[in-house]
Amino acid sequence: MDKELEDAGYRVYHGEKIDVYFNTAICQHSGNCVRGSHQLFNLKRKPWIMPDEVEVTTVMSVIDTCPSGALQYRHK
Ligand code: SF4
Repeated sequence: MDKELEDAGYRVYHGEKIDVYFNTAICQHSGNCVRGSHQLFNLKRKPWIMPDEVEVTTVMSVIDTCPSGALQYRHK
């Protein structure tokens, strides 16, 4: 876990090979994440972020489209 991100208000969503971090206070609601992958990001599901639903490369490529920095990832 990345303590710096957690201290900055990010919540962690664990995956087997990669963790995803999300900070709702920074999110600009562009929708790039849910448009990028409904399997990874699904607002109707709990938890709404499931890193193991897609390939690690997909986690990285979709999160790289987040314009605000609200989404981050850390490899394990
Ligand atoms: S891509 Fe980033 S800024 Fe846009 S809705 Fe998702 S988390 Fe928020």
